[in-house]
Amino acid sequence: MAHTYFLTPGPSELFHTVPGHIKTALKENICAISHRSKAFQQIVAHTLTQLRELFQLPQDYHIAFTASATEVWERTIQNMSEETTLHLVNGSFSKKFYDFSKQLQRKAEKWEVPLGQGFDLQQIPDFQSPELLCITHNETSTGVAMPLADIYALRKQFPDALLIVDAVSSAPYPAIDFTQIDSLFFSVQKCFGLPAGLGVWIFNERCLSKAEQLLSKGKSIGTYHTLPSLASAIRKNETPETPNMLGIYLLGKVAEDMNRRGIKALRQETDSKAAIVYHNLQKHPDKFSLFVENPAHRSATVIVANVLNRPAADFISFCKEHHIVVGSGYGNLKDKQIRIANFPTHSKEVFQQLSDLMAQW
Ligand SMILES: *Cc1c(COP(=O)(O)O)cnc(C)c1O
Repeated sequence: MAHTYFLTPGPSELFHTVPGHIKTALKENICAISHRSKAFQQIVAHTLTQLRELFQLPQDYHIAFTASATEVWERTIQNMSEETTLHLVNGSFSKKFYDFSKQLQRKAEKWEVPLGQGFDLQQIPDFQSPELLCITHNETSTGVAMPLADIYALRKQFPDALLIVDAVSSAPYPAIDFTQIDSLFFSVQKCFGLPAGLGVWIFNERCLSKAEQLLSKGKSIGTYHTLPSLASAIRKNETPETPNMLGIYLLGKVAEDMNRRGIKALRQETDSKAAIVYHNLQKHPDKFSLFVENPAHRSATVIVANVLNRPAADFISFCKEHHIVVGSGYGNLKDKQIRIANFPTHSKEVFQQLSDLMAQW
């Protein structure tokens, strides 16, 4: 049977080295060892070292492992805010982060713009400085990405807020200057091309002291995955719970593969593949139109197009017959749009094949 290739925005096609790494993991029996053993601590240490290199992470930033990014939304609100959070909302994922804050009974505010749009900082409404400013770098539901310069400008506007970046469907693509943000997180089934079930949470000392301050005031900051518990465990290359050991192992291996290739090359490849996809969509104005009108807000890693005149499902089935799985639109836009992932594992060749399919359909 021909291999079916996934261009869906997560889960997606596995990073090309993952099957080999899984075989090695089984051969070395790493799923059977104790999560408190020296051997596993070495695996954690290796993964941390590779991630630090990949992200060019400053020394005073911590890395912790969680169940996935959805957990980090909740933990961020629990550990870093007592009352107020502000969310930039422009799609389903950023909206859920905001909803979590309301459910946790914070005074959550949002700056919301229509789907398919980014944020124009000239038009920022008048907000009180919040404890937490929550930004979704890449809104996976709509294919809108925020320019890094805008994130840094918001930092200047809200210097007292902890600045939190959901980079789930873009990391490690954006060349983030960590000194301008306090926390960033992602799940591994997006750009890292790994099996789902692991989140990575990066945070600095400011975040940690906020959690400790809340704790000393007698506030609840959650249970096993509090920032202080995660930070003290990871200092020993451990986790509070029995973690997704295979996931942590594979993440270290893939991050190492990415470092070997070089993050710069990886970013350039992402840009050039995105240009191919956007260009090809625009070659067929009778079939497709780009959802994100402002070129500065178009995502390089999740590309969203309206499908014109025919149901989006027709194009998706057509591609499937040719063994390529394209993502459908998100939520209400399911019938009208396609979403195409452009993650590091996705090859230039598959996008050329996709371009032929766009022409033939
Ligand atoms: C996928 C995604 C999430 C949720 O990730 P899970 O692994 O399902 O927890 C959060 N934010 C964004 C932007 C995403 O794309």
